[in-house]
Amino acid sequence: MRRILWFRRDLRVRDNPLLSFEGEVLPLFIFDPAILDELSKDDKRMGFICHHVQHLKQELQERGLDLAIFYDTPKRVFETLAPLGFDEVVASGDFDTYAMARDREISHLLPFRLVKDTYVFNPDELLKKDGTPYLVFTPFYNAAKERFTPLHVKECVPATQTLFPYMYTAFDKDVLGFNAPTPTTLDPHYALERFALEHYLSARDFMAQEGTSRLGVHLRFGTLGVRELLRHLATQKKEGVNTEPFFRQLMFREFYAHLLFHFPSLETQNFRYSFQGVPDVALHQAFCEGKTGVPIVDAGVRELLQTGFMHNRVRMICTSFYTKHLLLPWQWGERFFAAHLLDYDRASNALSWQWSAGTGVDPQPYFRIFNPYTQSAKFDKDAVYITRFLPELRDTPAKTLHNEAALFESNHATYPKPIVKHKEAREKALAHFERLR
Ligand SMILES: Cc1cc2nc3c(=O)[nH]c(=O)nc-3n(C[C@H](O)[C@H](O)[C@H](O)COP(=O)(O)OP(=O)(O)OC[C@H]3O[C@@H](n4cnc5c(N)ncnc54)[C@H](O)[C@@H]3O)c2cc1C
Repeated sequence: MRRILWFRRDLRVRDNPLLSFEGEVLPLFIFDPAILDELSKDDKRMGFICHHVQHLKQELQERGLDLAIFYDTPKRVFETLAPLGFDEVVASGDFDTYAMARDREISHLLPFRLVKDTYVFNPDELLKKDGTPYLVFTPFYNAAKERFTPLHVKECVPATQTLFPYMYTAFDKDVLGFNAPTPTTLDPHYALERFALEHYLSARDFMAQEGTSRLGVHLRFGTLGVRELLRHLATQKKEGVNTEPFFRQLMFREFYAHLLFHFPSLETQNFRYSFQGVPDVALHQAFCEGKTGVPIVDAGVRELLQTGFMHNRVRMICTSFYTKHLLLPWQWGERFFAAHLLDYDRASNALSWQWSAGTGVDPQPYFRIFNPYTQSAKFDKDAVYITRFLPELRDTPAKTLHNEAALFESNHATYPKPIVKHKEAREKALAHFERLR
């Protein structure tokens, strides 16, 4: 058999199902202009991807293979390759709307086989007894635990493959025209070693601590396979570590992919309720620049802009503030996160924004409104996280940073007063949602 191995969200050789097909292969990666054209020239993800594409090419070369790299639309690439006598294209499943439409188009040019890699479960593998998709996380999670077997995480054994003769030129990332610095979070195994899984449950909500794995970007681009991560969990479990809380979060990732697969419109449209938010460019701008005057919100946005990461609890606080206190359309905020998160994933991001806005499948409705001040007092008591990203507030006592009234009274030279009052904004949001639901 002669196959094209299309690497996409699986930029690694270790435990990669694409390498378990015997025969002649043409491994390739495509820089797709439909995706690239939407990115800013200093997009941090491009630094990450370019590094890992180069690394993948080297690893394949060490196995006697190589990686052909294209800068073109997948359609044109496969139109060029189709006459060369390939039996099939093999790629790992990718389930957002764009990816599925793209794959459908390619399947008209060459036989197309999807293999399971990005997720533990295929998005249609866990369904309710009546064959319909789960809409609530807990039953989905229970089904996942029930159906999970060691086969789901079995390591893929590499097969004997020979390289199809083609032009495997050196990778020149400069032709892409990006100038992003390479992020520091490059080695997934280093991240995994540093991560204290045993403290995950107690530490994960405290944003100043490194209590979470920071593996999101690696799972996003497959530089760490989810099967390998789960095998690591199994080893830890045998050593007595409570791995369930972390497994649960990984299943949220599966749940969101499952939802988007079954309800593609959730990428941009509410699942429930008709409220859409009130467009206000100035408020959106203040949020995106980290200038709302609410320290925990601004620190979160600055963390995102500086590093490409935002701590999960801070993501929840910021998005609640954006959709409830500022009453802005969640889709605008979602696009802002999409532009800056290294671990950006269409399903997790859109569904999490809908969760915060109260418009999603979540049975907890729109009236969940976080108080950003009590949140920061609880999870960043000494304001270590806040002042890490807002150094201009280093001389302000932590108590003031968690106290709205004190912030309104303080006359800081370079940091603004809050742009909204919590109580008033909360009441306004509730009235707005009541009216439109
Ligand atoms: C508004 C909002 C937007 C988000 N956008 C994204 C996104 O674009 N991409 C993304 O991967 N996650 C997103 N998340 C989920 C979560 O915040 C990140 O996965 C997590 O912060 C990544 O850090 P970590 O790798 O240290 O996570 P850990 O806590 O170490 O979790 C391990 C992995 O589990 C998965 N995971 C953990 N929590 C969640 C969750 N709540 N939902 C889905 N998957 C989860 C991720 O793959 C994560 O890397 C979003 C959450 C919110 C509230």
